[in-house]
Parts: sequence; structure tokens; C-alpha cells
Amino acid sequence: MFQELDVRYDNSFRRARPKPESRALIYRGDAVLAKKEDGALRLPTFGALSGTVEEGAFRYAFSLDQTEFFLLDDTAGDCPAGDDLIFVPSREYRGMGPKPAVFAAAAGESLHRWYGTTRFCGRCGAPMRDSETERARVCPDCGLTVYPKISPAVIVAVTDGERLLLTKYQGRAFKRFALVAGFNEIGESIEDTVRREVFEETGLRVRNLRFYKSQPWVFTDSLLMGFWCELDGSDRIKIQESELSEAGWYRREEIPADYSEISLTGEMIDRFRRGEE
Ligand SMILES: [Zn+2]
Repeated sequence: MFQELDVRYDNSFRRARPKPESRALIYRGDAVLAKKEDGALRLPTFGALSGTVEEGAFRYAFSLDQTEFFLLDDTAGDCPAGDDLIFVPSREYRGMGPKPAVFAAAAGESLHRWYGTTRFCGRCGAPMRDSETERARVCPDCGLTVYPKISPAVIVAVTDGERLLLTKYQGRAFKRFALVAGFNEIGESIEDTVRREVFEETGLRVRNLRFYKSQPWVFTDSLLMGFWCELDGSDRIKIQESELSEAGWYRREEIPADYSEISLTGEMIDRFRRGEE
């Protein structure tokens, strides 16, 4: 999975100023300013930026080992430039390497999106400020405090002996096999989200839910929670056509070795295919 790194991600809150060797996270929409070298994503150091670099327009974001990353607040300063730097879209860089740079670009993009949507208070409309003590935005007029938006969601592998339930999404660019997936709703336990999503998308009932692992999917500001569970009762699928274009039972040997290596979904499908679940 793309966030499993061999460097330490430290996102504890602190205030810091960029050093020449610190890395800059600068976005235009979902594209990050970077250099592309033989398929590798290179985020610029502050030393490599030219033009006007207003340090005060950068917020400390996080560190990977000793490298600190700073995010441009594009409402507070102009976008600097640099030799060979271009805006690389998210859809393109997520398939590149090395993993730490791709992770930093994606996590920074999520933070950038959050700061961009918390410029004004959603309750009273006043301009928001950064909290002095934690990663939060605070309204100076009405006191509303807003934390980074992370939406919990489930990825569900439904098994029936040697068979796995595979799906394909309706109307999305992603055309590979997927698993049942969906967002948690207000007031719902994550286990109930699993049961509801499986039933809504396929008409099937499940039992023996088992949590596998989680994946922060920063591309969509979500936290994915992977579950294994077993079919309970009839195996007859009634597809939800607004969500899925197809859904079916596949024996281990029928599952194609074609899945995303960066995603929890891909890892779970592959584990079943190899007989590890
Ligand atoms: Zn307010």
C-alpha cells in the first residue's frame, strides 16, 4: 500500500520555519509542483525555488524522518517557480515513486484541500484562523473549531468458502475489480456500515466480520477500514445499478492478477487469490 513507508511519518503539531533543505508542497488544484526524473517525483527544496518565496506564506505540514515539509497557503503568497518544475496531477503522480515523495504529495494535497475549504466559518461566515495549539481552524467571532476532515469508509471482502465477491464500479475511471465499499454514516457503527453497504450494493447478508487493517486514503480525505466477512444465507446477487456495473463470485484461481498495488482493496484481493485468507 502506498502509505507503508520505510521512513517515519511525524505529523505532531508544531510551528517551524522552512530551511533551505526543507521541501515545499505547492498545489494548483490537485496537481503538485515537482520535477519528474525518470518516473520519479521530486518535490522541490526551498533552496531550489526561485522568484518570491515568502516564508510566512508556508505552514509546517509534517516530517518524514528528518525532512520537514511546508505547505503554501496560496491565499497568503504567490506561487514560486523553479527550473524544470511543473504541476504534476494527482492521477499521474500516485503511480510514480519513490513512495515517501508520493505519500508527501498526497497527504499535502489533502491538507491543502482542507485549508482551502476552511477559509471562512461555516456557522457565521467570519474569516477563520489557525489554532495556536493544534491542527485546527478557529473562528475568532463565534469560536467554532474545525478539525481536518477525514471520512471513515469500509472496504469489504465477502467470502463464501473458496469464492470471493468482486465488483466493478459504475461510471468511474477505475475499471479494475474492486470490493464492496462505502462511507460510514452519522450514528452508525463501522460494523453496521459493512452490513449495510454489502446489502445495498449486492442484496447479500454477511456474518463473522473480522477487521483486517486500515489505510488512510488521503486522495479522497478518507480512512479506509478493511473487513473480511462470510456470506450468510443465499448467494444470489441483486446488483445496485447506480453504484456497480457488475458483481460476481470468483474462485481463487479465476481472480485475475490485475489490481492496484497501492490500495488496500488490491492487497485484500491479492491475499485471497494467493490463498492467504
Ligand atoms: Zn464563526
